Amino acid sequence: MCGIVGFIGKRACTDVLIDALKRLEYRGYDSAGIAIFEDDKIKTVKAKGKIKEGLVEKLKSEPIFTAVCGIGHTRWATHGEPSDVNSHPIGNGRVSIVHNGIIENYREIKSFLIGKGYGFESETDTETVAKLLDYYYEGDPIEAIEKAVGVIQGAYALGIIFREHKNKIFAVRKDSPLIVGKGKGESFIASDITAIIEYTREYYCLERGEIATLDENGIHFTDLHGEAIEKELFTADWDVESAQKGGYEHFMLKEIHEQPDAVRNTISPRIKDGLPDFGECGLTAEKLRAYKHIFIVGCGSAMHSGMVGKYLIEDLARTPVIVDIASEFRYRNPLVSDGDLVVIVSQSGETADTLEALKLSKAKGADTLAVVNVVGSSIAREADMVIYTNAGPEISVCSTKAYAVQVAFMYLLAFEVAYARGRIDEARCKELVNGLTEVPEKIQECLNDLSIYQYVASKIFNADSLLYIGRGLDNALSMEGSLKLKEISYIHSESYAAGELKHGTISLIEDGTPVIAVMTQSSLFEKMLSNVRTVKSRGAKVVAICRAAENLDADCADYKVGLPEADDLFLPLISTVAMQLIAYYTAVQRGCDVDKPRNLAKSVTVE
Ligand code: GLU
Repeated sequence: MCGIVGFIGKRACTDVLIDALKRLEYRGYDSAGIAIFEDDKIKTVKAKGKIKEGLVEKLKSEPIFTAVCGIGHTRWATHGEPSDVNSHPIGNGRVSIVHNGIIENYREIKSFLIGKGYGFESETDTETVAKLLDYYYEGDPIEAIEKAVGVIQGAYALGIIFREHKNKIFAVRKDSPLIVGKGKGESFIASDITAIIEYTREYYCLERGEIATLDENGIHFTDLHGEAIEKELFTADWDVESAQKGGYEHFMLKEIHEQPDAVRNTISPRIKDGLPDFGECGLTAEKLRAYKHIFIVGCGSAMHSGMVGKYLIEDLARTPVIVDIASEFRYRNPLVSDGDLVVIVSQSGETADTLEALKLSKAKGADTLAVVNVVGSSIAREADMVIYTNAGPEISVCSTKAYAVQVAFMYLLAFEVAYARGRIDEARCKELVNGLTEVPEKIQECLNDLSIYQYVASKIFNADSLLYIGRGLDNALSMEGSLKLKEISYIHSESYAAGELKHGTISLIEDGTPVIAVMTQSSLFEKMLSNVRTVKSRGAKVVAICRAAENLDADCADYKVGLPEADDLFLPLISTVAMQLIAYYTAVQRGCDVDKPRNLAKSVTVE
C-alpha cells in the first residue's frame, strides 16, 4: 500500500525521487507526486495515474529542477478518489507531507481545524495531518510533530518538510513501514529498502515514538521529548529483485505476513466508540433493521468469505443469509427484490461475473453494498454503498490477505446486523468488537514460528489427493483452505462438512490419505473427534488444526497445528493463516510457481 521516498544530498533530487518511486511501483498505487525545495519555496508536482504517464509527463513542462532535497509518494487511495488534488504530497506551502496509512480520527481533527479557520482542498485523511502540523508549528518542527503525533490516531508513516527549514526532512511512523537510508554524503527515507537499494544498503529502522531528521550533516534521531537517541545501522544483503518482495521468497509469503496490519486497516476505520460504524458508506442501523433478506455474492475466495459471513450473521443476528456464487446467481433468476441487501465481494472490484450480479441485483431493486479492495474499481463505482477493505495491493494470484480482510469485515457486519436488530445489546456488541480487534495479534502469533507448517507440508506434499473437514464455522473456513492448496500446489483436494463425509465421500479414504481436520469450535469438538477417529481407522493421516492447549491422543491425530487461545468465534479467522501456510509450503516443496499458478489470473474480468 503506497510508497514514501525522500532524499537529501548534493545532486539534483528529482531524478533520485522518481527512480525510487518507480522501484516502489510493485506495491500498487493510483497516483504519484513529489515536493522539493526550490529557492525559498516548496514546489509540488503531482498527478493521478502511473508515474511515467502522469508525474513524469507533468514534470516535462516544469523548469529543470536543481533542488537537492525533496519527498515523494505513490498513493494507494483510501480516503478520496484517485485524483490530482488527492495525491500526495499534501500541504499548504508552509508544510508539506507524504503519508502512508489511515488517520482514524481525521473527522474530529478536521472539524477542530475548520473551527480554527482552516480550509480543506482534498478529500484525504492526510490533509488533516498536514494542517495540524501547520497549526502546531511555531518555528520548531520537532515540537510541532510531537504535538501532532499526540493527537492523530491510526496507522501512519510520514515524510514531512517545512518551508522555513530548507533542505531538511523529518520522518515519524506508527504501524506503517518506514526506513531511513544512510548513503555517502546523502540520506534517504523510504517505505522499504527496495526504493533506495541502488544508492545504499545501509539503513535504520524507524520505530514508533521516534523522529528522524535528515539534513546536509546526516541523520539524527530523537524521541518524542526531543532527546537524542542512538540507533542500530543495518545492512541489507538482498538483491534488487528480492527486495521488491521485502526479502520474502514469494509475494504470497509476504502478503500472508501482512495480514495482521491488513486486518487492522480494515476494521479500525469502521469502529467508533467501540461499536461497528458503517456511516462512511450510508449503511445505517435503520437500513440493516429493515432489509428483508441478505444475500452475499462473490467468486472463489470472496464467495468463501461470504460463507463465513452467513454462519456469523445467522448465528448472532438470527437473520437468514443466502450466499451465492456470482456466475450461478446471475443466471438463475434469483429471488432478489426491493427491500433486500446484496453484499457484493471482490478483491479487484473488476470480477466480471460479480459485476454482472451486482447490476442484476440493482435492476431488481435491491440495495447493493460492495466490499472491494481496489479504490475506484468498477464494482465500487457501480454499487450503492462501498466498503474498501484497505488490504493494500495483493500481487500473488492466490488470495491471502484480501480474503482475511473480507472475513474480518463479515465479522463486523454480523455484529452490526445483530446489534441493529436487537439480538445483542450494546455491551455484548462492544465485547465482540473488542475480541475482533485482538485477532491481528493472534494472527501474528501464528506467524512467529513457521516450522510446524513446513513440517506438515513435508508430510503431505507427495499426496495425490486430500480432504479438509470441519463443522460450523470451521467448515466455511476449510473451503478456503482447500482452495488454496488446489490453486498453488495442484494437489486435488476437497472440503467437506465433517458430518457429511460418511454419506459417500469417506470411500475416498485409503491408507495414507491426508485429512486436514479443522477443530476450533469447542461445542463441536467431541463430534469432530469422532469424525477424525472414523477416518483415522480407515488409514487416513490426520493433521489437526486446533487450540495448542488441546490434548489429542495419538489414535486421533498424526500431527497437530496449535493455535493461540481465543474465543471460538474468532479462531476460524486465526486458523486461516495456518491453512494458507500449509498450502504455501506444500507448493514450495513441490517446486510450483507459487505466485503465478498455472491457468489462473489475478483479476478475472472474463465470465
Ligand atoms: N490515507 C491516505 C490517502 O488516502 C494515504 C493512502 C496511502 O497510504 O497511500 O490519501
